[in-house]
Amino acid sequence: MKIVLSCLFFCFSVLLSAQNNTQNLVIVTLDGMRWQELFGGVDTAIIKNKTFTKDSANLAQQFWSSDIKERRAKLFPFIWNQLAQKGQVYGNRNLGNLVDNANPYKFSYPGYNEIFTGYPDLKANSNDKIWNPNENVLEFIHRQKGFEGKVAAFSTWDVIPYILNKKRSGIYVNADKDSLLFQNPSLKLLNDMQSLTTRPIGVRPDVFTYFAGREYLKAYHPRVLYISFDETDDFAHGGMYDQYINSAHAEDAMIGDLWQTLQSDPMYKNKTTLVITCDHGRGDAIKENWQHHGEKIMDAGQIWIAVMGPDTITMGEVTTKQTNFQKQLAATFAALLGLNFTANHPVAAPIQSILAK
Ligand SMILES: [Zn+2]
Repeated sequence: MKIVLSCLFFCFSVLLSAQNNTQNLVIVTLDGMRWQELFGGVDTAIIKNKTFTKDSANLAQQFWSSDIKERRAKLFPFIWNQLAQKGQVYGNRNLGNLVDNANPYKFSYPGYNEIFTGYPDLKANSNDKIWNPNENVLEFIHRQKGFEGKVAAFSTWDVIPYILNKKRSGIYVNADKDSLLFQNPSLKLLNDMQSLTTRPIGVRPDVFTYFAGREYLKAYHPRVLYISFDETDDFAHGGMYDQYINSAHAEDAMIGDLWQTLQSDPMYKNKTTLVITCDHGRGDAIKENWQHHGEKIMDAGQIWIAVMGPDTITMGEVTTKQTNFQKQLAATFAALLGLNFTANHPVAAPIQSILAK
């Protein structure tokens, strides 16, 4: 009996530790990036429409191919040539794999609230700067042993600090024009640059958010880093398909650069899970609605998730016929770090296939 028990204990420990290869977590979001382009590459109809694409020939030359797999890899080379080779990409509805907003609103505050709290709160229905009463998974992780002072978020959009409630949560959140008051020379330079840059979308360009996050990571080694991009949404609202595509392509390259940075640092190498997702989708059934999203755009709640890390088996483009929800991400983030997320509100269960090694 004793032998059986100790074997059970041993086997159970092995099972548990099998899910604990992830020591660090990096999360990246692309605001309002459509699954249609992630899985299908640039959209021919929108490229040909002069209202949305001034220089169709130039955009086609860069991103078009008649082969859909080649086309999407031209737009997102890191995701398709690297991440998909080792990880999982959810949300290709053409294959029956669905990822949806659980919240009915299909815009940013409700979406980011859902990602980080695991709770599609019906009361979160405005993009105003409201301190979020819902506890989020980043502050939960920050409270755990070994994570104190090791959770940081860098965002372009200046509402993210409110959604993550930086006042309450205690995590480091740097957004838009927030000063980068560090002794580190790279961060000092970025601080000067971001105060002098043009602001085409009214907040700092995504590249500054990215470099602030990367240089912070190199200097201070957070165990959880969140980078929140915004340009894709703003350019889409402006009806500028070329800029929307160019920003998506640049963000893919930044994520590739970030992965290379992680894999060249022994603290992160093969011990870090990367999760990429978006807050909401945009319209497509009515083609002009690619610019828009919100409660009235039926298909704007269609989203996607890409994951790669030491606890996630290789599936590539996931073909399982299933629906996962944005609200499952918060508990998934915690579970990747071996934690069980609980909060002052209900929390949806994690996505098991991301965790199953
Ligand atoms: Zn928007």
